[in-house]
Amino acid sequence: MTFQMNNSQYPESNLTWQILNHANKHNYAIGAYNCYNDDGVIAVIRAAERKHSAAIIQLFPWSMHFQGPEFVRYVVRAAHVASVPVAVHLDHCIKLEDVELALGLPFDSIMVDASKQDQEANIRFCKDIIERAKSRNITIEAELGRIEGGEDGLPHIDMDTVLTRPDEAGEFVRRTGVHYLAPSFGNIHGGYPPGGAKKSWDLSRLSSIAKMSTTNIPLVLHGTHAVSDELFLKAVRCGVRKVNLNRTVRDEYTRFVAEKSGSLELTTLKTEAVEVYTRSIERMMDVLGSSSRY
Ligand SMILES: [Zn+2]
Repeated sequence: MTFQMNNSQYPESNLTWQILNHANKHNYAIGAYNCYNDDGVIAVIRAAERKHSAAIIQLFPWSMHFQGPEFVRYVVRAAHVASVPVAVHLDHCIKLEDVELALGLPFDSIMVDASKQDQEANIRFCKDIIERAKSRNITIEAELGRIEGGEDGLPHIDMDTVLTRPDEAGEFVRRTGVHYLAPSFGNIHGGYPPGGAKKSWDLSRLSSIAKMSTTNIPLVLHGTHAVSDELFLKAVRCGVRKVNLNRTVRDEYTRFVAEKSGSLELTTLKTEAVEVYTRSIERMMDVLGSSSRY
C-alpha cells in the first residue's frame, strides 16, 4: 500500500510531510526511530502496523557508508509497503558529500545539520539543499541553534551561546523554506547532566519558538535520552511533532540480546529480540499519541 499522493504538489506530495502535518493538525507526535540493522527496521514497521500508527525510520549517514545504498533501498521498500504510513529519514547529515549521496537515494526526508556554521551560512546551505531536494520529492529538516552532545559523551559547552532564539527561528523558517525545524532549547544528545532533561530544558523557550515559526511547521525533538513520559507530553503540548528516539526504544532489545546470545539459536534470538524491540516502540507510540490514527 502506498500513502504518497502522486497528484499533490511538493511538499504535500512527500510522505514525511504528510505524516508530520497530520500530527501537527491533530496535536500529537510521531516517533522517529534510529535504526542500525534490520531488527530495528522490522520492529518499527511491525509496531506501526499493530498500533495503527505512522512512523519514521531514521538512519544515520553511517548506514549509507557501512551498509551501503542497497540497504537504504531495502529499508525504504520495506517501509513503503507497510499497511500504515512509514517514512524513511536520514538523520544528522553534516557533510556536503553525504547530502549529495543522500539526494541520490530514495529517502523521504533528510536532516541537514549545518548548525556548526554561522546563521547566514546555515540559511544559504539549507536553502540550496531544499531547492535541489524538491525535484526528488525529499523534504528537509534543519537545526537552528546548536544541540550539543554526541552519542557517547557528555557536553562541555556554555549552553547560552547555542540555544535557538525565537525571533531567529521565525526568520530562519521564512528564509530557508525548511519543512521541519529542530530547535535547541537545552536538549542534549547522548545523555543529560544531573537533574536530567527536566532541569536542562527551557520549555517556555520551546513554546516561543513554536509561536515565532509563523508558518506553523512541525518542530523536531532531539536529545531524548532519558526523558520521562510526562516531559515528552509537555514537549508535544509545546508543538513538538517529531520525536527522535534511539536508546529509549533500543535499550531493552540490546539488553535481551546481550543476555541471550549465548543460549538461543540465532533464529530464535532474532525473533524474540525483535519482539522485545517492537514492544518498546509500541509503548512510545501510545505515549506520543500516534497510536490508532490510521
Ligand atoms: Zn539529533
